[in-house]
Amino acid sequence: MGLVVQKYGGSSVADAEGIKRVAKRIVEAKQNGNQVVAVVSAMGDTTDELIDLAEQVSPMPAGRELDMLLTAGERISMALLAMAIKKLGHEAQSFTGSQAGVITDRVHNKARIIDVTPGRIKTSVDEGNIAIVAGFQGVSQDTKDITTLGRGGSDTTAVALAAALDADVCEIYTDVDGVFTADPRVVTKARKIDWISFEDMLELAASGSKVLLHRCVEYARRYNIPIHVRSSFSGLQGTWVSSEPIVQKTQQQGEKQVEQALISGVAHDTSEAKVTVVGVPDKPGEAASIFRTIADAEINIDMVVQNVSAASTGLTDISFTLPKTDGRKAIDALEKNKAGIGFDSLRYDDQIGKISLVGAGMKTNPGVTADFFKALADAGVNIELISTSEIRISVVTRADDVPEAVRAVHSAFGLDSDSDEAVVYGGTGR
Ligand code: ADP
Ligand code: ASP
Ligand code: MG
Repeated sequence: MGLVVQKYGGSSVADAEGIKRVAKRIVEAKQNGNQVVAVVSAMGDTTDELIDLAEQVSPMPAGRELDMLLTAGERISMALLAMAIKKLGHEAQSFTGSQAGVITDRVHNKARIIDVTPGRIKTSVDEGNIAIVAGFQGVSQDTKDITTLGRGGSDTTAVALAAALDADVCEIYTDVDGVFTADPRVVTKARKIDWISFEDMLELAASGSKVLLHRCVEYARRYNIPIHVRSSFSGLQGTWVSSEPIVQKTQQQGEKQVEQALISGVAHDTSEAKVTVVGVPDKPGEAASIFRTIADAEINIDMVVQNVSAASTGLTDISFTLPKTDGRKAIDALEKNKAGIGFDSLRYDDQIGKISLVGAGMKTNPGVTADFFKALADAGVNIELISTSEIRISVVTRADDVPEAVRAVHSAFGLDSDSDEAVVYGGTGR
């Protein structure tokens, strides 16, 4: 008998029908002889709706209270799912993140898991129950307050529980058939990937492919937990994310090892904004004080560029990107320290998008960057910022250009599939 951790995202449990469908799927896994722990997200767009509601009451709600509110979303789905399973004649118990032993640091709205003590879950499944766990939430070790793990955090809950329970597999069920070479909502010719390394998946996730959360992949790599990303709407094999390539059975050759692709895919992200600090004196320590201010406000930045300074003034501009949700906080923090840092003004632009090409093949293939820029130029897309890592190139463009740019790059690198169009089974893409 094995132990399986399954995670069902919001689009899989969007309504009562969805909950009943997922309940059946969980029961099937149990009937196949497994112990089953199912992590569940809030129904449909509940989390977004709760955030909208909070903002109507207060534009910058206190982190502690926002977490209290948001965790209610997962409580609703966990309880309904347990009821639906019982209705099918099987025993199920639901648990909040705190009851499941998900211990985090004290940072509200984006807490990190620091330990998982799944004693109650273990006992529950040993007694023959199916354990249902609310994703995306935990409890702070020192403040004892309820925390959330950041948007999409149920993925991390699932992997962390799989690691703590020494599960045989962690299955992430969503509304597409796996990880594709681009977001199937944007590129209908995107191709399903059979296997992807942790490294390439980390870069895709960090670059905006929200099918898996970056922190969840980081966690999986650290504890070497293979992840199977698949659809809860179809019975198809999905995508394996692991350190070693999987072996696939084919009709012609028997077994064959899946090869690492040169280019894994194209990711895009329109959730960031750009801040430009205008008129910064070009002297040592300036960048340090700007980014210290941002770090002290607990904001993570992504790309940074500094322009050459104008010889006549000795002043320069520094631009950086950050999550739109932290935009207000960053501007407030910089304005507060304006005299200390010394700059003229701030510009805020939330109409930007980021497009990234990811693949381990880039390390050894010098033409990739040139081909990437050529594809964007041919599509008439202007580049505003550029950043690279060993296995990724990213550019910032106008937000409106993103869909066209993603499709152009996808085609230029020969990633378009010539057979089935990628299916999106549910969700609103919000
Ligand atoms: P869930 O509610 O199951 O957590 P998410 O909305 O967080 O689902 O993630 C699934 C979505 O991720 C898909 O519907 C798809 O639009 C998007 N996505 C972005 N990039 C990719 C990609 N490379 N492969 C598959 N899906 C992707
Ligand atoms: N419900 C949370 C969100 O929408 C967590 C998750 O879905 O993983 O971000
Ligand atoms: Mg998700």
